[in-house]
Amino acid sequence: MVERAVVQGENKLLEKNYRLTPQRKAVLQALTQAGKGAHCTVEEIYLIARENCSQLGLATVYRTLELLTRLSIVQCLVLEDGRARYEIKRNPEHHHLICLECGRIQEIEDDQLLPVYPQNVSFHILSASIHFFGLCRSCAN
Ligand SMILES: [Zn+2]
Ligand SMILES: [Zn+2]
Repeated sequence: MVERAVVQGENKLLEKNYRLTPQRKAVLQALTQAGKGAHCTVEEIYLIARENCSQLGLATVYRTLELLTRLSIVQCLVLEDGRARYEIKRNPEHHHLICLECGRIQEIEDDQLLPVYPQNVSFHILSASIHFFGLCRSCAN
């Protein structure tokens, strides 16, 4: 599934006539590295991506993430600390439980939240990102 996300991201780039440079490929791969790539800051993604692409610069990672976000391949998450975190956009969406103590981010699937979506409003919802702040299990104890 992780590999599929990379391929989908790559295809989307090509569809929009963007070249699949080694740098873009490395950033996509870093974002999908199991357990490591999700909800990472630019600097964290840079460190992971550089392992596969040594000539990668931080400025390129910034530009690549900006492009991938614009193309809806990646989604950006800005939390309380004001730092942007990135992850591959998935379908269906998912939302986040964020621990205020240790910063751990857990995910919950969209179908659990569908009942809270605004109903009977004349507004066509294309995407939603809901954050719940609190204490994770180990911090609550
Ligand atoms: Zn915690
Ligand atoms: Zn997430």
